[in-house]
Amino acid sequence: MTFKIEQIAVGKMANFTYLIIDNEEKEIAVIDPSWDLEKIFERINKNEYKVKYVINTHSHFDHIIGNDQIVSNIKCKVMQHNNSREKHDISLNDGDEFMIGKTIVHVIFTPGHSKDSICLIVDSKAIITGDTLFVGNCGRIDLPGSDPEEMYNSLFEKIMNLDNNLIVYPGHDYGYKPTSTIEEEKKNNYILVPRTRNEFIRFITQGE
Ligand SMILES: [Zn+2]
Repeated sequence: MTFKIEQIAVGKMANFTYLIIDNEEKEIAVIDPSWDLEKIFERINKNEYKVKYVINTHSHFDHIIGNDQIVSNIKCKVMQHNNSREKHDISLNDGDEFMIGKTIVHVIFTPGHSKDSICLIVDSKAIITGDTLFVGNCGRIDLPGSDPEEMYNSLFEKIMNLDNNLIVYPGHDYGYKPTSTIEEEKKNNYILVPRTRNEFIRFITQGE
């Protein structure tokens, strides 16, 4: 594999920051920087990584609050979905692809938890899911910008159609383990039990 993903537990809300690291060129992207930035800077300095992008899976504060400090220390571009109203340099849309070194990253737009949620598929091997999908659960859909119907589309028309072997890297450490696979989530995640659109919306909003 030409890349690796480093999962870094940060802050007091069980957030994960990720580094997508291209082994060959030592180029990286920092995903969802928030707290404990010294953990990020330490890894960057020790390994002499070249930071190309900061990418936010969505614009909730606990996923972007570290952006400014990264950008003021290291020259790099901030990427967010087109719907984000927060400060960013590059707007992403569904289907976009870009490179980190020789590693290809594919964007899927997965609204539902927020209007600007995205997942990042790395080299067809791994998926960083933000607050769209957790190990054993999905993100909250009762927040401003949340939409149960959009969550249904994202989970059942996008996530459920993905390659079983993708390793799932969620936005928070809310599960019984920190990572999973799409196959395991299809089998074990009670949110992903096959339901019609109406059944899902009733289940997710009223718990029945
Ligand atoms: Zn969120």
